[in-house]
Amino acid sequence: MEKVIIEVRINEYASRNRNANVPFSPAEICEEALQCWRAGASIVHYHARDPQTGAPSANAQIYADTARRIRDKSDLLVMPTLGAWTLPSPEARMSHIVEMAKEPATRPDFAPIDMGTSNVDVFDRRTGRFMTDDVVYMNTTNTLSYFARTIREAGVRPVAVLWNVSAIRVTNAFVEAGLFEPPVYAEVVLTEGGLFAGHPGTVRGLESMVDFMPANFEWSVMCAGGNLFPLVGAAVERGGHIAIGLGDYPYGEFGTPRNGELVERVALMARQVGREVATPKEARRILGVS
Ligand code: ZN
Repeated sequence: MEKVIIEVRINEYASRNRNANVPFSPAEICEEALQCWRAGASIVHYHARDPQTGAPSANAQIYADTARRIRDKSDLLVMPTLGAWTLPSPEARMSHIVEMAKEPATRPDFAPIDMGTSNVDVFDRRTGRFMTDDVVYMNTTNTLSYFARTIREAGVRPVAVLWNVSAIRVTNAFVEAGLFEPPVYAEVVLTEGGLFAGHPGTVRGLESMVDFMPANFEWSVMCAGGNLFPLVGAAVERGGHIAIGLGDYPYGEFGTPRNGELVERVALMARQVGREVATPKEARRILGVS
């Protein structure tokens, strides 16, 4: 089995209400990323945020500044997000990636693509009601093909983000169509906290994805809105990689931890199961990043 790749999902659009360690500014993201790197992370995934308010930002300069700071001090692989799905067009969602890719110093190693369309209304168990009832996260096949082509032309590797078994099948078709080249870095998204677009954040929720995973995929698992730790051992035993961070969940189980503490715990658990943790250099080889 390959070594375990640890990706840190450092901020997403998480608020600081439950854990004030969520980084917003490029300097904060960089500092947090370096701590994760020292603890065993090889990939950093981040969203640009307004440095003061934390509001989502589509500013290519903020994205690029963050990448440059991280690269100055580490050999971490850099994965900015695609623009928020609320942006008006696929081109707008891609524009900062294209902009960053013009310079080797800021070119992302990876960019993630959510391989399907989902209802993303959140159910509030306290009130017994959906908080919205008409929100669709739309990614047509045409949009996904456009993302795949544009990412490749920019010299960036795609991450296939998989919310369900259907997305595995679509990703496989993209490999057959020549839009993706193996090894595919595939990220399983389990969803908790009232979001039902993914499988549940349980071992069975994960296993039902792994059952359909092609051999030329290197998969990792994350849990949006829930604690990933009960699954880490099972994922590592099954050959998976781990994607974790305060962006997905505040981890109040440990007080108010920092991202680096989560990475440290994952590294310890991986070694207990008998798999070493990959360095960024090893992660590059495993995932086919030049
Ligand atoms: Zn993200």
